[in-house]
Amino acid sequence: MPGYQYGAPRRPAVRLVITPEMEAQIEKEIGATEPRKRAASKASDRGLKTTRAPRSDRHPCGTRGAYFRHMRSNERPCEPCTIANREYRAASKASRRKPRELKPCGTTAAYQRHLVRGEKPCEPCAEANRVRLRKAVA
Ligand SMILES: [Zn+2]
Ligand SMILES: [Zn+2]
Repeated sequence: MPGYQYGAPRRPAVRLVITPEMEAQIEKEIGATEPRKRAASKASDRGLKTTRAPRSDRHPCGTRGAYFRHMRSNERPCEPCTIANREYRAASKASRRKPRELKPCGTTAAYQRHLVRGEKPCEPCAEANRVRLRKAVA
């Protein structure tokens, strides 16, 4: 039956034509799915904003955070970042040297130092603190 065979492939071709009713149906479907899609992409935008973008904003080059960012991404830290890291290390070295020049026992500073270290303040320090407290009350 050749006539039937020729007619058969023509039918799907006809079905591909989009009628106004189909258009309306598609529009309805798009209308139903698009807001969801938009909401999803908005959510991912928000996710990007809270994770990646601010992190690099907070650590522009020339900060120690950016220096570590370079290191993490296996980059050679740029000049401002290298300087920032060198300065930080110099500063932390200096602050580590400080404790040796701290005030001797018998001062409230030394008393605080004992507490910070989790030690029981020695007698001269405890006395210095008592004096300070008495002054504060008076
Ligand atoms: Zn840098
Ligand atoms: Zn002490």
